[in-house]
Amino acid sequence: MQVPAPFDYVRATSVANALELLERHGPEARVIAGGHSLLPMMKLRLARPDWIIDINDVAELHALTEEPDELRVGALTRHAELLDSDVVGRLFPIIHDAERVIADPVVRNRGTIGGSLGQADPAEDLTTVCDVLHARIVIASPGGERVVDMADFHRGPYETACEQHELITEIRFPVRPRAGSAYEKVERRVGDWAVAAAGAALWMAEDGTVADATIGLTALGLEGPAVEAAAVLIGERPSEDLFAEAADLAAAASSPIEDQRGPVDYKRHLAAELTRRVLGRALDRAAHPAVA
Ligand SMILES: Cc1cc2nc3c(=O)[nH]c(=O)nc-3n(C[C@H](O)[C@H](O)[C@H](O)COP(=O)(O)OP(=O)(O)OC[C@H]3O[C@@H](n4cnc5c(N)ncnc54)[C@H](O)[C@@H]3O)c2cc1C
Repeated sequence: MQVPAPFDYVRATSVANALELLERHGPEARVIAGGHSLLPMMKLRLARPDWIIDINDVAELHALTEEPDELRVGALTRHAELLDSDVVGRLFPIIHDAERVIADPVVRNRGTIGGSLGQADPAEDLTTVCDVLHARIVIASPGGERVVDMADFHRGPYETACEQHELITEIRFPVRPRAGSAYEKVERRVGDWAVAAAGAALWMAEDGTVADATIGLTALGLEGPAVEAAAVLIGERPSEDLFAEAADLAAAASSPIEDQRGPVDYKRHLAAELTRRVLGRALDRAAHPAVA
């Protein structure tokens, strides 16, 4: 199938209007942002919404605001805008690492962070990034607004806490001192989805030990961060041996499946190798932070 089933189309003018339209048109209405996940699903008839509610005119969803203790990113922020942002690169280099390897410029010019998290594809890169950075997701509903941690937001493949009648409006990234983060992905060809990817963030204590750490894996069958792998780092002085130990634990926690992108052993090997590398790069970035 290359043509979607028939649907009606309406453009929302504000968050309140989008919520009102979602309520009015019922359970078969779907929000569209960049359309780079929803339209392919509609063409394959995996999604058959009766109504498409276009949120691209909703200016409130476009903001990118640096607060003293967090970066607030509007849900409609495009991949390309995240990649172009100096603030994003300075505070969270892991986002730039990931955005450089998400699809191609055509997709990055339209696809949004809200759509990526909303789609929750198991090979999607920004869910891992948001897990690693302890992002919090703002969800608007007719009853008001709530802010949920990634652990509560991401429920599994194609499933999130954002209900059909709700809207993701903002992603909030906490800003903490002495932080470094990195992401690395192996793909079969440029612009492809991940064979495997890993992300890590380290927050260092003043004495040079690891105050806090998170490790996340993409396309490796792990929902949420690799908690046990990160735990061995906390309170310790970083070393290659320590990072190798954490990397092996991350690989052990992964649960890859064999598919056209590779066999299980290969993917588990990538889990360990990529984790080791991103920990090293995160440490380097924590020691040499980018200046404003
Ligand atoms: C060829 C190709 C290659 C790609 N490669 C990669 C890749 O390597 N890595 C990667 O991570 N992604 C990849 N993607 C996906 C891309 O990043 C998409 O942009 C992204 O998944 C969806 O963003 P979107 O804005 O296009 O969402 P849409 O397609 O508009 O929406 C996706 C889903 O999210 C919902 N939604 C959208 N916005 C909101 C909101 N604000 N609140 C609530 N629900 C919302 C929609 O209703 C829909 O269910 C690729 C896509 C293509 C077409």
